[in-house]
Amino acid sequence: MEHVVYVVGHKNPDTDSVCSAIAFAYLWNKWKEGGNVSKMMKVEAEAKPVIQGDVNPETKYVLEKFGFEVPEIMTNGEGKKVALVDHSEKAQTVEGIDKAEVVAIIDHHKIGDVTTPQPILFVNLPVGCTATVLKLLFDKTGVEITKEIAGILLSSILSDTVIFKSATTTELDKEVAEELAKIAGIDDLTKFGVEIKSKLSAVDDLSAMEIIKRDYKDFDMSGKKVGVGQIELVDLSLIENRIDEIYETMKKMKEEGGYAGIFLMLTDIMKEGTELLVVTDYPEVVEKAFGKKLEGKSVWLEGVMSRKKQVVPPLEKAFAEL
Ligand code: MG
Ligand code: MG
Ligand code: MG
Repeated sequence: MEHVVYVVGHKNPDTDSVCSAIAFAYLWNKWKEGGNVSKMMKVEAEAKPVIQGDVNPETKYVLEKFGFEVPEIMTNGEGKKVALVDHSEKAQTVEGIDKAEVVAIIDHHKIGDVTTPQPILFVNLPVGCTATVLKLLFDKTGVEITKEIAGILLSSILSDTVIFKSATTTELDKEVAEELAKIAGIDDLTKFGVEIKSKLSAVDDLSAMEIIKRDYKDFDMSGKKVGVGQIELVDLSLIENRIDEIYETMKKMKEEGGYAGIFLMLTDIMKEGTELLVVTDYPEVVEKAFGKKLEGKSVWLEGVMSRKKQVVPPLEKAFAEL
């Protein structure tokens, strides 16, 4: 075993999975320096943050703003010590995870299928962001949060919770964000949230396929292959003139990939709703799932912002009832 702990977030990295890897590696190394201030385990190996793929423009902006390098890419964990942040599912982690030594998991999702032969540091809270969990770990182990670390943790919370508007947001996320904002010297959380979120809204340089695949997942819904993508925008008008092109690309993707349906959430984070673009052989699932008829290419869903909480579960149910 190498004497390094690689701290890694999930595949297709978002701001939380990158920034939480950096912040947790920093915390771990403070534990190491401070003579195991964690009081619960020996920290000997040096931690190093890594990522599984290129960072998105929002994450790039956040790292630059607070003076951090983009971590190196690592896609295989075989024979290595690894710490997982922002995920605990094999499908989302590095290759060779069964031949890696998982030393810690810090997360805020449902518990995945990564297992360990021994007790490890495993902290998972049902909150809006891994960074929120990390803030508590810094505080509990008495490690000071620098202005820069506060900046990336705060950015992660604003990103994951869509400036506290996502259904996944908890009071704890808001409380922690306020504390981090003080340390980072940021006064207006909404303004700063829009500033970072607008980096993902820059779709002009992206192809239609890149827009669809920005944040895209395949699902098996009652034996049918269904794709659900999401793009968060500060204003839907930013994408208006691309809709036809995106729709044609979705149609092509559906034919070539043998999909029963492809759904693309164009989420307006300021208006707090989603224009759902749909190509499917079963248009009736839209009304079943969301109580509104599909007219033309899309349907507006007021208040819908979370794929995992508000779109996937009703779609799964609707496909099951076909
Ligand atoms: Mg994430
Ligand atoms: Mg997260
Ligand atoms: Mg996310």
